[in-house]
Amino acid sequence: MTILGMCRPFRDPWDRVSERCFRCFPCLSDPARRSSLGLKVALVILHLIYVGVLFLFDSDLIEKTKKEPWYTAIYLLLFVATVAQYFFTSGSSPGYVLDAMRAANETDAIFRKTSTTSKQPASSKNGSYVITVDGSQSGKNPLGSNATSWTKLVMDMYPPGSSVRSWTCTYCNVLQPPRAKHCHDCDKCVLQFDHHCVWLGTCIGQGNHCRFWWYICEETALCLWTGILYISYLKANISRAWWMDAIMIVLLVTLSISLIFLLLLLLFHSYLVATNQTTYELVRRRRIPYLRGIPERVYPFSKGVCTNLYEFCFARSSIYRMEPLPSAQELEIKSRPYTCLDVLTCRCC
Ligand SMILES: [Zn+2]
Ligand SMILES: [Zn+2]
Repeated sequence: MTILGMCRPFRDPWDRVSERCFRCFPCLSDPARRSSLGLKVALVILHLIYVGVLFLFDSDLIEKTKKEPWYTAIYLLLFVATVAQYFFTSGSSPGYVLDAMRAANETDAIFRKTSTTSKQPASSKNGSYVITVDGSQSGKNPLGSNATSWTKLVMDMYPPGSSVRSWTCTYCNVLQPPRAKHCHDCDKCVLQFDHHCVWLGTCIGQGNHCRFWWYICEETALCLWTGILYISYLKANISRAWWMDAIMIVLLVTLSISLIFLLLLLLFHSYLVATNQTTYELVRRRRIPYLRGIPERVYPFSKGVCTNLYEFCFARSSIYRMEPLPSAQELEIKSRPYTCLDVLTCRCC
């Protein structure tokens, strides 16, 4: 059985805007935020150097732009989109457990206020529990006013008999749903924690994993296109000025290394998405209590490639999705070896 908890946090829109602005324009008095801002500036400068040098040195490209402006326009559009996606991902929320708890408690309180017919705090559809909140009624219940609804929701996702204490984060004292982990850089628990990205200065989790995938996809495409333009320049202008060629070759070599890294990263994250895993779960599989003992080739949270892709693509940072631990019966079904019939019926999809 699959239990899916979804809660929509409806905080004051002004709060959300100010929080986003604060994340985008870090306070310079905070060393962590200062280094994050330094990295962002460095990344933008690096992008500008690669593209600027190309337009500065390559007169053929300028000529081509005059004849076929659409070609350069698409390239520059990809450049702007990649930088914008970087800032968009960097400022997005990975889905903090604390926010999910606040939303779940608000949902429960509102439900109890408005409904008198049912005692279930969540609607059930196709074996999934979906919790929604009406935006107009948000913010009336302070955080933690009814921690038991969160406790019940989370403990339902663990096998019966599990202790609340063993799943409570010792740093933020919050009950963690399955797949959540405390990030020491953000000092918060993150839903479906993937990793903390230093380049972006934020965690990658359930709320922004899709944005992160698109960012590396755009960055790979930009790197590839820029590399092609560099190679075309070197082919046509190899004997003009040695120092120009030297600069272009150095930049092309670093660009090629970045491209290989980005391609591998893109492939790796595509694999994670297709199998519904996170980097943390893959790397620390033997150390995570709920994954210990599960055979390597079994992906406990996978619902088939198509469903995994659908859930990944339509995940929004404003919706918190929590997955329960699979039962022993589900794991047994998933670990069954593939037969010819399974291949024909696309069991993996
Ligand atoms: Zn924590
Ligand atoms: Zn983090």
